[in-house]
Amino acid sequence: MEQITEGKATIAVYKAEVVSKELPVFYNPVMQSNRDISISYIDAAKCKSIYLPMAGSGVRAVRILKELPHIEQILIRDIDENALNLIKKNLRLNGLDKDERVTVAQGDASEPLKERRKVDYIDIDPFGTPVPFIQAAIQSASKGSTIAVTATDTGCLCGTYAAACHRKYWAKPLHVPIMHEVGLRILIRRIQLMGLPYDRALIPQISYYKDHYFRVYLKVKKSKEEAQRLWHQQQFLLYCPACQDFEFTTHLFNHECGCGSRREWAGPMFAGPLSTDLLKHLTCEEPESSAFLSLLKEECKVDAPFFYDISSLASKHRTSQIPLQTIMEKTHGVRTHFCVQGVKTKEKSKKIIGLIR
Ligand SMILES: [Zn+2]
Repeated sequence: MEQITEGKATIAVYKAEVVSKELPVFYNPVMQSNRDISISYIDAAKCKSIYLPMAGSGVRAVRILKELPHIEQILIRDIDENALNLIKKNLRLNGLDKDERVTVAQGDASEPLKERRKVDYIDIDPFGTPVPFIQAAIQSASKGSTIAVTATDTGCLCGTYAAACHRKYWAKPLHVPIMHEVGLRILIRRIQLMGLPYDRALIPQISYYKDHYFRVYLKVKKSKEEAQRLWHQQQFLLYCPACQDFEFTTHLFNHECGCGSRREWAGPMFAGPLSTDLLKHLTCEEPESSAFLSLLKEECKVDAPFFYDISSLASKHRTSQIPLQTIMEKTHGVRTHFCVQGVKTKEKSKKIIGLIR
């Protein structure tokens, strides 16, 4: 065991050269920014009652308690005995073991909470796909709850393992420059499908891809009309690998692109906005998380899906690359967190190609 500090928490973790799920309890330092942003979200969305069904080392729980004094209660669960012992140890280490707001219990994250209690925020943070845990989260949610979901199975959602994506997410991924946004939208739609039979609309508040994982915060609304609206927000994508032109569609009849190439398809996926205005209220002190949030906020200024990967377009058209800044200025575009050389704009690909030629 060794002690580490993250945010305002000091916690004991298993010592490891390489972080792996073979460890008795899994602590991943790469996920610090995932936790930084979740704490800012809980604060901005004014969540008071927290449920962590897969608490692991307890680092998120301790940080929430130490960094957000307005929290009224927190239910910390894990299925694993080792994790529960470590969580208790870490609460003790931070002087929180006798805190009346805290409940620690053994439990399976794939089963809904038995006792009825108000929950403002549920965090699903598994290793791999979150799909097996979503149903229970929806059933444990209260009116207006947020369900925060991490997915680390990016190989599946981005098309390296397309068959696994079909099987788990009921959609076709696409291994192209916009694959991360396609994967994120496929994930969101799959989560939303699970709420629809209960007239629950799960509306994305903040969604992103970072360090090989996806993260989405969805607000649960009990409304037949909203659920119906979400049903109509799932679309297929037609995408041209040659000119990067794209189009959302409900049918897949026309694969011909204006440039003469054949378009590929992906989906179904969520075609609505990935984030809401709540994003503007998020702040982090940690420099990396803070810079990342700024990039997300900038990106939201252009209300359009997807982006153009300028570097890949330039190499396809055998031109030397012109500065991103120039392309952004001429297309009223912004940078995107999905791709270093990406530009998000409402312009069509024809205009971009005209600029780089
Ligand atoms: Zn084309």
